[in-house]
Amino acid sequence: MAEIENVLLLAGDALLYFAALAALLGARDRIGLGPFFCALGVLHFLETYLASIFYVTLPFGIVASPGSTVLFAGKLMLLLLLYIREDAVVVRQPIYGLLFGNVLVFALGFILRHHNVLPIAEGRSADFVFLDEMGGLMVWGTAILFLDCIIIILLYERTRAWFGGHVFVRLLLSSAAVLTFDQAAFFAGLNFLTGAGLPVLIGGWIAKMGAVALYSVLGTLYLTRYDRPLGRRAVPRLRDVFDTLTYRERYESLLARTGCDALTGALDRHSLEAYGRRAVDSAAAAGRPLSLLLIDLDHFKGFNDRFGHAAGDRLLRQVAHDIMAASRLSDFTYRFGGEEFVVIADGVGGADATEHAEHIRAAVAAARDPAGGQITVSIGVASCGRDATDYDDLFAVADRRLYEAKQSGRNRVIGPLTK
Ligand code: GH3
Ligand code: MG
Ligand code: MG
Repeated sequence: MAEIENVLLLAGDALLYFAALAALLGARDRIGLGPFFCALGVLHFLETYLASIFYVTLPFGIVASPGSTVLFAGKLMLLLLLYIREDAVVVRQPIYGLLFGNVLVFALGFILRHHNVLPIAEGRSADFVFLDEMGGLMVWGTAILFLDCIIIILLYERTRAWFGGHVFVRLLLSSAAVLTFDQAAFFAGLNFLTGAGLPVLIGGWIAKMGAVALYSVLGTLYLTRYDRPLGRRAVPRLRDVFDTLTYRERYESLLARTGCDALTGALDRHSLEAYGRRAVDSAAAAGRPLSLLLIDLDHFKGFNDRFGHAAGDRLLRQVAHDIMAASRLSDFTYRFGGEEFVVIADGVGGADATEHAEHIRAAVAAARDPAGGQITVSIGVASCGRDATDYDDLFAVADRRLYEAKQSGRNRVIGPLTK
């Protein structure tokens, strides 16, 4: 009875492990692959720890460890799924990271043992024999993983000729073959270090084949139901504080490079062509809101005529500063022409964009010319999706609305929802 219970518990381990990591893998468009890789790295320790010390009995006298059966076999399946949805260059990233980290554990452990240690509690001290053992097994396990991944990818590709679109059969055959090889190789290391005997080799292999069957079903479900190549392109990126910081960082680095307008410090027309166009395309593809604000100073020619071009330049600098100060952290401000600016507000749609433009208009209107007159701007706003899905069309709509704003008296905003 206890054996059956162990089988069920192993299946529970495998389901939890696969569901959690497959969810991270499937979320890569939103949060990148870093979380998936880090989780794999953390679990590598548990995997090796269990494989070296924690064994359970299964029916027919089979002895197996959840470390190899659930965690290692699962990791291999997940890396194969990663290869299928991305490519081999992506798969090598966690493998190199694991190898590097594990060797580092070894190297640091070697230095650490030479410290003069302060005993914190009676009978508690760092176990360097254990750490060495774990370090050795982890380096060995990752070296095998390196080979395993190459073989499983080659086998998966090879089975395409035989089984074509039968994903389940291909997952099953390639992972069964690789885990057979792996069992022999890992056992050699384990036997060398811990003296583990033949039942561990055979039992481990049978248990791994059970895991292969379960993971092949789960992997097939993942590929055919959860992470289909078509349809996932429209997933919006997770927007949180890190996302904003990323925009800020890109914005700063863009500013620091040459794409910056010398007079006002805003990004220049060239950057708008390169980056603005890309931002609109990406927002349109992801179904993410984005708005384009086209801002033009009112009666600027008259200002130049009255106060001179040098004062005009100072005013331009001031207005650019006001626009950027009134914008959000993630907005990009470009000098489009002489006294025309474009703000690309990513993540801001329809009504919010008009409100945002109104905020900018009011900020500029607080400034005064040398004779005490008001400085004003007119703004045309166009929103991605609602008005257009392509940069040129979006710009044309904003331009038309700017013209309307000028016609209807200046110092005003016309956006998608303006009556
Ligand atoms: P409107 O309200 O219709 O926009 O009137 P406006 O006078 O602003 O009209 P328009 O946009 O045609 O005029 C733009 C003027 O901006 C023309 C030019 O004298 C001035 N200008 C363009 N670039 C610069 C610059 O770099 N420095 C200065 N000082 N003036 C500039
Ligand atoms: Mg103009
Ligand atoms: Mg003007």
